[in-house]
Amino acid sequence: MKIASIESIPLRIPFTAGGRSDAGAWGGANLQTVDSLIVKVTTDTGVVGWGETFGFTAIPAVRVVIDSILAPELVGRDATQLEKLMLDMQKKFHIFGRSGAFIYGLSAIDIALWDIAGKVAQKPVYQLLGGSDATSLRSYASLIRYSDPELVRENVRRAVADGYRHLKLHEIDVDCVRAAREAAGDDIEITLDVNCPWSVREALDMTDRLRPFNLRWIEEPVWPPENYSGLAQIRREGGIPVAAGENASTLMDFQHLLEAKAVDFIQPSPAKMGGITELKKVFALANANNITVMVHTFYDGPGLLASVHASAALGGSGALVEWRYFDLEAQLYGDAIVPENGAIAVPQGAGLGLEPNADVIRDYRGV
Ligand SMILES: [Mg+2]
Repeated sequence: MKIASIESIPLRIPFTAGGRSDAGAWGGANLQTVDSLIVKVTTDTGVVGWGETFGFTAIPAVRVVIDSILAPELVGRDATQLEKLMLDMQKKFHIFGRSGAFIYGLSAIDIALWDIAGKVAQKPVYQLLGGSDATSLRSYASLIRYSDPELVRENVRRAVADGYRHLKLHEIDVDCVRAAREAAGDDIEITLDVNCPWSVREALDMTDRLRPFNLRWIEEPVWPPENYSGLAQIRREGGIPVAAGENASTLMDFQHLLEAKAVDFIQPSPAKMGGITELKKVFALANANNITVMVHTFYDGPGLLASVHASAALGGSGALVEWRYFDLEAQLYGDAIVPENGAIAVPQGAGLGLEPNADVIRDYRGV
């Protein structure tokens, strides 16, 4: 079974998030649309698999990599030799970057090839990864940045009313975090993702001020994201557990993160760091280091499904899946993947278990 074609498909779907958003790592203020990039891989036997890479402003660069560089290399290759294909591509193109567009594009193709592998085996991907008896996983509502305590308060209340027991904020000031804790009460688990704004000293000053709010973790507190010794210092001295890893790429980078004792929670992002092939190795590595994997999942397509399957099979009872708390005008999978009472269903169909809605792809295809 050979790879016959690889097609990249950008999507642009309007959304609302319960009020005006502030600028963040994902884009400008008052963001109106979610831009995502999915890939469709078709085999010479007619099996179709779907993958996804990280979207937003990276899309044009990743498309060029997929369409002009990776697809010509991969078409005609054996679709079942996932491990070998991924290693061959990483080796062949390593001098052009070990993260960013190359690995993002490769990640999307890898996820699609796992979808194909599951469909051929007639098993869901989580079974290929070792199996699970979980039919759903707890999920956390990942709120966009508002930088407005009132909006934070309102949206925390909304998420709690929707049944979430776990929330993530993307705020960077103390007043917004205080508003969230006051609105949520003491029993809701809150994490804070600040997306690398601070020096180590600034981060320690902030952890001093944030400690009263009982955060489950602080995510990427220091600049730059690969400042692993800086993260380790926050972990030792900050008094709040540290999470990071969405900007780490490929297995060796995660090894460096763990060697530095930089994190309490490690956050591989399957659509950025090498797909399911690389993600399953990070679970093993994290187990050996007694560190919990919390898969980064700022996606709502095949990248989300990859996280769900891997977390179901490999994440143990503590698995928690990120759910972007956006109201999208259209969902690629309809309601099938939308959490209910803070739990996300583990798809039971073959491969990734759900097929993208063709009408949504037609109606929201980007340029
Ligand atoms: Mg993050």
